[in-house]
Amino acid sequence: MQIKAICPYLFAWSSLFLITDRSTNAEGCCAMVKITNVHKRHGEDRVTRDELNGSSLTVLYIAGSGRTGSTILANTLGQLDDFFAAGELWNIWRRGLTERRKCGCGSAVDVCPVWSAVLQRAFGCPPQRIDANHLDALARKRLRAREIPRIVAAGRAGSVHGDEYRETLTRLYHAVREVTRRPVIVDSSKSPMYAALLATLPGVRVQVVHLIRDARAAAFSHGRLRDLPDFGDQRLMRRERPLTAARRWAKGHAIARGLLPGRVSGFVTIRYEDFIDRPAAALGRILALMDRSAALPLVGERAVRLDPTHSISGNPARFRTGIAELRLDDEWRTAMPARDRALVTAVTWPLLIQYRYPVLRTQRVVLAT
Ligand SMILES: [Zn+2]
Repeated sequence: MQIKAICPYLFAWSSLFLITDRSTNAEGCCAMVKITNVHKRHGEDRVTRDELNGSSLTVLYIAGSGRTGSTILANTLGQLDDFFAAGELWNIWRRGLTERRKCGCGSAVDVCPVWSAVLQRAFGCPPQRIDANHLDALARKRLRAREIPRIVAAGRAGSVHGDEYRETLTRLYHAVREVTRRPVIVDSSKSPMYAALLATLPGVRVQVVHLIRDARAAAFSHGRLRDLPDFGDQRLMRRERPLTAARRWAKGHAIARGLLPGRVSGFVTIRYEDFIDRPAAALGRILALMDRSAALPLVGERAVRLDPTHSISGNPARFRTGIAELRLDDEWRTAMPARDRALVTAVTWPLLIQYRYPVLRTQRVVLAT
C-alpha cells in the first residue's frame, strides 16, 4: 500500500492534477491574534499530555470527493448516541470564522454556543480573536497532494511539537470531545490528506468511511444551480464544469484509496447508492468497523429522523431536520448531456470499474449484497 499503491493512479491521471483548486483562492478577513500567541498563553509552546487529560477520541472521517452524499450520511451518523456531527471541520477557519457561515443549528459559527465554547476551551480566547486567516492558509498549504510525503513523515515522527497546524488541530479536536462529551466526532471534510494528517495527532483515532458515488452523478450535481443557505441570503453554490468535477473526483478517490488504508485505524468503502438503497446495512457496516452498536435513527426502510446538528459547512442538506426520505437522485441518467457524460466517463473509468459502476450505457448498476 502506501505511496507505491497511489502511484498508478497518480501517474495515470497526472495531467489531471495540474488543475488549480479554485476553492483555495478566495480571501478571508483580518483577525487580531495569531494562534501561536494563544498557544503560549501559559508560557509553553506545545500541546502537552496533561492538556489532553489522558482522553482519547475517535474521528469517524468521511473521505472522497464532493457531491457524494457525505452530508446526509454525516448527519445521519450524528444522530447516534456518542456521535457528534461536526461537518467539514477542516473549513472551520475560513467558512466558519472568516466568512461567518451558519452552523447547522442556524447561528453563525462564532456565536454558536457549542463552537464558541469549543474554541474558547481549545485556544483560551473568544472565536473573534483567533487568526482564522492564518490558520486557513496553513490548512490549504498542508492539504495539497504534494504534501503527502510530509504527512507520512509526520506520522512516523508522532510528536506535534513545532508543527503549528497539527498542534492547533490537536487542541481543536480534543476540545470538541470535551465540550460535547461525545467520544466520536463525525468529520465529513473528505480530503484524504486531512484524514491522514488527523491520524498523526496524539490521542486521536481515525476511522475512515470512503464514500463513493458514480462520477457522472457527482459531476452532474456540480453543474446544477443550487441555493447556498449558509449566509441566509440569495447566494448560490459554486458550480463546476464536468471536466473539473471529474478530475477532482478521480484525484480524491484515488488518493483516498491509496493513502489511507494502513495509515488509519479502520477503513471501509461505502457506495452512496448502496447507502440510499439499504441504509440499515450501510450504517451497520460502519458500526461494525468501529466495533460499536447503536440504535439507528431510521424510520421505516428509507427515511431518517434528523435533529439539528452543529455542522460546519457542507451541502445545504445539513439544515434539514425532521423525517427525511432517502431517495436516489439519478436525474443525471436522463438529463446529463451525452458529451458531458462521455467526458466524465473517459476521465474516471478505471475507478468506475473498480467500484462496479457501469461504464457503458447498456450496463446496469450492481448493488452491494
Ligand atoms: Zn451550532
